Amino acid sequence: MATEKLIAAYDLEINDIKREQQRLADRLKELTALREKAHDELMLSKSEKLMQKDWAGDDFKWSKKIQDVLKNKFRLDQFRQKQLACINAILSNQDVILLMPTGGGKSLCYQLPALVTNGMTIVISPLISLMEDQVMKLKQLNINAEMMSSTTDKTIIKNVHDALTNGKPDIRLVYVTPERLAKSKRLMSCLQKCYLRKGLDRIAIDEVHCCSQWGHDFRPDYKFLGVLKSMFPNVPLLGLTATATSRILIDVQKMLDISGCLVLKASFNRPNLYYEVRRKPSTQAECVKAIVDLLETKYNGKSGIIYANSIKEATDLVKELRGHGLKVGCYHADLEPDVRSKIHMRWHSQEYQAVVATVAFGMGIDKADVRFVIHHTIPKSMENFYQESGRAGRDDKAADCILFYKLSDVFRISGMVFSNKTGLTNLYNVIDYCIDSQRCRRSIIAKHFDEVWEACLCDAKCDHCRKPRESIEINITNYCRDIFKLLNHAAAQDQRLTAAKLLDAWFQQKGDTKLRLKNLSIPPISRDLGEDIVGYLLIQEYLKEDFHFTAYSTISYIRKGPKSVLAMEDNYQIKMMIPGKRKTGQDDIKTSTKRKNDTEINKTSSKKIKESIDLT
Ligand code: ADP
Ligand code: MG
Ligand code: ZN
Repeated sequence: MATEKLIAAYDLEINDIKREQQRLADRLKELTALREKAHDELMLSKSEKLMQKDWAGDDFKWSKKIQDVLKNKFRLDQFRQKQLACINAILSNQDVILLMPTGGGKSLCYQLPALVTNGMTIVISPLISLMEDQVMKLKQLNINAEMMSSTTDKTIIKNVHDALTNGKPDIRLVYVTPERLAKSKRLMSCLQKCYLRKGLDRIAIDEVHCCSQWGHDFRPDYKFLGVLKSMFPNVPLLGLTATATSRILIDVQKMLDISGCLVLKASFNRPNLYYEVRRKPSTQAECVKAIVDLLETKYNGKSGIIYANSIKEATDLVKELRGHGLKVGCYHADLEPDVRSKIHMRWHSQEYQAVVATVAFGMGIDKADVRFVIHHTIPKSMENFYQESGRAGRDDKAADCILFYKLSDVFRISGMVFSNKTGLTNLYNVIDYCIDSQRCRRSIIAKHFDEVWEACLCDAKCDHCRKPRESIEINITNYCRDIFKLLNHAAAQDQRLTAAKLLDAWFQQKGDTKLRLKNLSIPPISRDLGEDIVGYLLIQEYLKEDFHFTAYSTISYIRKGPKSVLAMEDNYQIKMMIPGKRKTGQDDIKTSTKRKNDTEINKTSSKKIKESIDLT
C-alpha cells in the first residue's frame, strides 16, 4: 500500500539515478571533448608529417612544364614564396590548404596547374566581381576560362555544361559561386559526368575560411562544400585563404572532410614595408599640416593612399589637402562607378599624388608602385590594417605605412563596431599595436597572424627597431584608482564620463569643474601618457566602454571594467611599459632595461618621462 515512506524511498532512488545520470552526462561531455582534442592532434601531426616533404623541389615529372607555363603563358619570371610548393602538391593529387596574405598570389596556384593537365579545374569563389576580374585577366592571357552566375549568357552556360560532360569546348577553368553549386542540380550532374570520365582534375575553394563559423565571414552556402570529398574522392581540393587562425584551419579541414591535409603557410612578413605609428596631433589643422609635410617632402612625386574612417572624413580631408595645393582624389562607396573609375585613372596616371579613401577602396587595386599608405584614422582591426597597409610596395620596393593614432579616434570607431561579436576585441588589438612602447611592429603583426617571429629580422624597418628606446616599467595602479574615484564622483552626480571628459577632470584642464576631485592631485605626467594609460586600462579590462544611443550617433562612456575589483585589492599592481630614452648603438636593440622597484613615479623621474614622451 502507498505510504509516505514508500514515496520517500522512491525519491531516494530517483535522486540516486539522477545523480548517476548527471555524472555520466558530465563524463560523456568530457570524453567527447578529449576525443575531439586527440583527433585534432592526430590530424595536426599528419599535416606536420606532410609538411616535412620538400614540395618546392624541381624534380617532379611536370617541373619543366610548370616553368614553361609560368614564363610563356603567365609571363612571370619566378614563383613567389609557397607557390611552387602548392602547385607541386596539388599536381601530386594532395589536398592542400594554402594560407597566404592578400596579394601574395594565391590564384596562380590553381590557374597554373589548370594548364598542366588535360582535365577541368573548378574554382569556387564567393564574389562575382572577383571572378569577373580573374576570368577577364585569364582571357587576356589567351587562357580559356568561364564563370557561371545568374547573369551569365545562356550559350556560355551551355558551353560549360558541354565542356564538363564531354570535354568540348576545351575550357580550362570554370568559376562558380558556392550558391550556384548548392542550388543547380544540372551543374552537379555535369560535374559528376566529368568526374566519371576522369575529366575533373581539381577543385579550388577561394576564401575557404568562409566555411568556418569561427571566421569573420561565415557563409552558410560554404557548408554544402562538405559533400565534395565524398562525391569526388579522387579529386584534390585546394582551399585558399588569407585569414586563418589554427582553430579556423582545423575547422575548415573538418568541414571539407580533408582533416590532416597538407597546410602550406606563406609568411605574412612584407620585408620591404616600413611600419610607423605617429601620435595624431590634437587639432585637425595640425594633423593636415603633418600630412601635407609628408606629401610635399618625403613623398614628393610619389604615389600613395590615405585611408579615412568615413565618407565625411575623406571628403573633408580632400578639401583640406587641396587647400594646401596638393593634387589628391577622393574615393568612397557612395560615388557612381564612372566617377570611381575616373579617380582610379587619375591616380594611376600620377595626376593625383594620392587617393583619400574609405575602406571601399581596395578590391582589385593593381597599382604596384604605391610608395606610402597613411592611415589618417586607425583601422578597425589588425586584419584591416594589414590589408590596407599591404597595398603599399607591391613592386617589392621600399614603401612606408604610417598610422596616425589618438585615443579619441577609438571612440569614433567603437560605436560603429561594438555590436559585432568580435568588433571591440578587434579594435582593441589595434590600440595595443599603437600604444606599444617598444616591441617591433612587425612582431606584433606576426603574432596576430599566429606566426613565429624574431624581432631582429625586422632589419630596422619599423619605428621601434629603427630608433630603439629604453623601456620603462611604471606602476599605474594608483592612476587607475584615481580614475575610478573620478568615475564614482561623476556617478554620484548622475553624470556619465566620456574618455575626453574623464581626462579633462583628471588633468584638471578643461570642462566642468564639478567633475574634478579636490583631494586628487594632477598626475605628474603628460596628457598624452594619460591617454595611453586610459587606452591601456581599457584593453586590459580595468575600464570598459558603455554605449548609449542618441538620435544621431552612439556615444561611448567610460565605466569600470570587469577587472576593476582586482585593482582595488591590497598589494595588487598594474604595470605598463612606456618609452624611455633613445638608445644608442646596435647592441642594445634586443635588451630592454627594466627599472627595479618602480613602485611609484617620483617627481624627478616623472619629469624625465614627460620629456621622453614629448620626443616622439
Ligand atoms: P591573392 O589572391 O593571394 O590576394 P592574387 O592571386 O590576386 O593574390 O595575386 C596578386 C597579384 O600578384 C596579381 O597581380 C598577380 O598577377 C601577381 N602575382 C602572382 N604571382 C606572381 C609571381 N610569381 N610574380 C609576380 N607577380 C605575381
Ligand atoms: Mg585571391
Ligand atoms: Zn621592427
